[in-house]
Amino acid sequence: MTGYRSGVPDNWFVDPVQLGVPGVRRPVEGVDDNPLSWQTDALCAQTDPEAFFPEKGGSTRDAKRICTTCDVKGECLEYALQNDERFGIWGGLSERERRKLKRRA
Ligand code: SF4
Repeated sequence: MTGYRSGVPDNWFVDPVQLGVPGVRRPVEGVDDNPLSWQTDALCAQTDPEAFFPEKGGSTRDAKRICTTCDVKGECLEYALQNDERFGIWGGLSERERRKLKRRA
């Protein structure tokens, strides 16, 4: 989908179908080397992406609340840290919170 109102990147979520794993959830014994395979279980994919990429100064509360119940929160945060994701809520943390976490590590 394209044409979001705000700063939501067009590729904010990689559709599992595009990844070539329709209907496939977790592969057996790490056969899948796609670094984004965890997105198959991303809870935010079923919600409004706008909440995860709020305008400057916008509320992140709703997105963070969704993240708390997401099964792939750990993988998501790990991915964001490793890839230096600058925008949006990933793994329940804002860009600022991720920067802080990185500094502490
Ligand atoms: S932790 Fe949050 S941002 Fe990450 S996949 Fe889950 S719902 Fe989406």
